Formats: sequence, C-alpha cells, structure tokens
Amino acid sequence: MEKLLMIVDLAKCVGCFNCLMACKDEHVDNRWLPYTDSQQKHGQKWIDPTRHERGKAPYTDLCFVTRMCQHCDEPHCQKAFPGAVDKRGDGIVLIDPNYAKGNRELVDSCPYGMISWNEELNTAQKCTMCAHLLDSAWTEPRCVQACPLRALSVIKADEETIEQIIEDQCLKPLTDGSNKPRVLYKNLERYTNNFIAGALTYMDGKIEMAAAGAGVRLTLNGTDLLETETDFFGEFKLDHLPDDSGTFQIFFTLDGYKPLETEVTIEKESVCLEPLQFVKK
Ligand code: SF4
Ligand code: SF4
Repeated sequence: MEKLLMIVDLAKCVGCFNCLMACKDEHVDNRWLPYTDSQQKHGQKWIDPTRHERGKAPYTDLCFVTRMCQHCDEPHCQKAFPGAVDKRGDGIVLIDPNYAKGNRELVDSCPYGMISWNEELNTAQKCTMCAHLLDSAWTEPRCVQACPLRALSVIKADEETIEQIIEDQCLKPLTDGSNKPRVLYKNLERYTNNFIAGALTYMDGKIEMAAAGAGVRLTLNGTDLLETETDFFGEFKLDHLPDDSGTFQIFFTLDGYKPLETEVTIEKESVCLEPLQFVKK
C-alpha cells in the first residue's frame, strides 16, 4: 500500500504563517467527524512555524521550523492509549474524538508536544493531515496547498520509493527519529547545527580595509573540513558544525600578508569572532 510522507524544507520557509491560517480556516467551526471535532480558534496550533535564530549581531541568520503531529510509524500516543489512536495504512495517525473527550492525559502522551487540549470542547486534538480531504480525492492537506514557497510537500508512494527520496534529499527527523516519524525535514542543519563567522581586514595606510578574497580553512585535529573565501566585505561563514563538535583550528591567508590562525570550540551555539587583521610580510 502507498504511504504518505510530509516534507518540510527549512531553506524555503519564510514564516508567513499561511499554513497555520489555512489549518484554522479548515478546522475552526468545522466538525470533520469521525476524523476530528472542530479546532479551537485561539490557544491551539495544530501546525506551528517556530522561529529559530543563530549567531549574534552582526552575524545572524534565521529560519522557521514548522512543527505538527509527526504521524509516527511507532506512535507513542498509540502505545499509551491503544483504543484512542488509529494508525492508518497510509501512515496518518488519528485520535478518535469519542475517546479524546475528557481524556487530558492524551496531551502528555506525545513526546513531541503535538497534541493540544481544546478547552471549549474538553477534548484532546491534533493535526489529522486533513485526512477528510485526502479521502475525498484531494492530493494535499490545506497547509501544503496554502504554502506559497512549497516549503511543505506531501508524497504518496510505496515504501521503496519513499526510502529513495529520503536518501536523495537528505531528509532528517526533527528529533532522534525513535518514533519513526512520517514528517521529515530538509535542510534541518539550519536548526540543529552551528556556524563560525567573522571578518578579516588589513591596513592600507591609515585606512582599515576589508580583506576580500582571503582564504579560510577549517581543520579539526589536523584534518581539513571546510575551505572558503571571504566575501566583498571581508566576511566569512563556516556552517554545518554540530553541537559539541570539538575545538577547531582556522587558518587565514591573504597574498602579501602573514598568515593568521585562531582556535574555536563549538559547544551548543554559533560563534562570532572579533575582526582579525592581517599584517604585511
Ligand atoms: S507526533 Fe505525537 S501525536 Fe503525532 S503520532 Fe507521533 S506521538 Fe502521536
Ligand atoms: S506557509 Fe510555508 S512558508 Fe509560510 S510559514 Fe507555513 S511552511 Fe513556512
């Protein structure tokens, strides 16, 4: 049987919240029983683009991580409440509205925090991947259809094809993947990894100039990892460094000037260096 895979691309999402608005439009004041009861207008987000910043001024970057029920293949919510949660053949996980009524413990059964409590209806709810639409010949849930940058996409295919797509597009789970989520993330390193950034200068008489085109080489324990050049402003950025990845050596070169080097330890945050200045040979 063909299964669904939702892909969220961090490099494309700009945090416009269209997906959240489309979800509200579809589910607030609409009862799609037996899939789900209506969504609460305020205080519930079944899809949630959350802002994530890295670095410090002047070297910062920003991305949005869109979270929703991960439609896990081994759903913790179902293990905790087998009678209340249905794992469909196409991969969608649904909470039975009858069992969810008054069952607040369902909210805590999701390790991703994706089940929310509807105070008005006294019930536990979450994203249904718009199963009521997909079962009526729609090819995409409302959030995917509403995303102007195609940061969200849904694929329906056999498991072998899906495995190939996961490998080709380097798709990753949001956390450790232990619940085997069917929502996977592209360019997740913009959220999980760190960068080292800085600027290089040299003196031209009494004027400090940006060292454009200087060589920058990152090494770890004597092994070259990354190589780049400074841009027009003499700035560089070395990205994709995981948390606690070690103490790196960085070597800088510019024709006619003495080489520079520095050491940087990456723990849980990106590192922004003070400007370094080349001195003539
Ligand atoms: S993300 Fe949470 S609510 Fe959704 S299937 Fe997984 S465990 Fe259940
Ligand atoms: S609609 Fe698309 S681009 Fe806009 S916040 Fe949602 S995922 Fe991001």
